[in-house]
Amino acid sequence: MIAVLKHGTTPDQTQHLIDWLKRMNLDVHVSEGSEITILGLIGDTSRVDMELLKSLEIVETVKRVSEPFKQANRKFHPKDTIVEVGDVRIGGGYFAMIAGPCSVESEEQIVGVAQAVKASGATILRGGAFKPRTSPYAFQGLKGEGLKLLLKAKEATGLPICTELMNINDLDLFTDVDIIQIGARNMQNFDLLKETGKCKTPILLKRGLANTFQELLMSAEYIMSEGNENVILCERGIRTFETYTRNTLDLSAVPALHELSHLPVVIDPSHATGKIKMIPSMAVAATAAGADGIMIEVHNNPACALCDGAQSLTPAQFDEVARKVMRVREAIL
Ligand code: PEP
Ligand code: MN
Repeated sequence: MIAVLKHGTTPDQTQHLIDWLKRMNLDVHVSEGSEITILGLIGDTSRVDMELLKSLEIVETVKRVSEPFKQANRKFHPKDTIVEVGDVRIGGGYFAMIAGPCSVESEEQIVGVAQAVKASGATILRGGAFKPRTSPYAFQGLKGEGLKLLLKAKEATGLPICTELMNINDLDLFTDVDIIQIGARNMQNFDLLKETGKCKTPILLKRGLANTFQELLMSAEYIMSEGNENVILCERGIRTFETYTRNTLDLSAVPALHELSHLPVVIDPSHATGKIKMIPSMAVAATAAGADGIMIEVHNNPACALCDGAQSLTPAQFDEVARKVMRVREAIL
């Protein structure tokens, strides 16, 4: 349930109402805009007398929210959330270009790729140190060493870094990471979600292989309900009967998630298609659809990549895509 307070309500009046609601065993989420304040009532609202609440002098309207996600819900928070990562902003009109190799392989590789993608306009460097692989025999990532190399690339370029966390026990190693990625396979690892909700680091939450928008938003809710409101949603393709592409890119995620939620939406055309040739057109389409960012895999030598070489662009190919994406951004603004 949400209660919209009238313009001009004083902080004292607001607090008085919040205290009254809390006495009914409700949690109250406050969203303060420049004009109005919205109170999101979380918990069992069945005993709240809507008419009584509506009749209060400071209350403009009261609505029941049918969706089970509250803090991620646009009804609670009509304005777009802008996630800040150092000097970089994502959402609410700010577009992020996230690029880098699937996995960090060496200092030379990650620093080289970071410099190249930055020169092409990338705003965030992404690289995996802990890799979720289908086969236990495949390269699992450089782990802690990979994180150190990412920090070297950050030092060399100034780009904020985004990297995947797979296990709660590794969280302490991530203190200098700018964006923690929760991968598709861990989208419903609820303990991991809750733990990352306790820190303030922005979280890039990827949609699971076969999860609905509502399930994705419920996972965002797990993070937000612990206090971390800096969540970026990422569509990376879903499983369908089609096998020609690695996954099926659900571009409707952009308008759908924007309608349901105020959180920024990033599209990952690399994992969605799995094919170098398809990435440029899907990146352009995602941008035209109004995505708040794109995330693309780039490798200095894709043929020798230890992971996802078939979907990794060379820096020159990325440069071309980045130019097109920037032209589309200008056209739709
Ligand atoms: C990745 O980003 O490298 C990755 C493994 O992605 P996903 O979780 O979407 O499969
Ligand atoms: Mn990958």
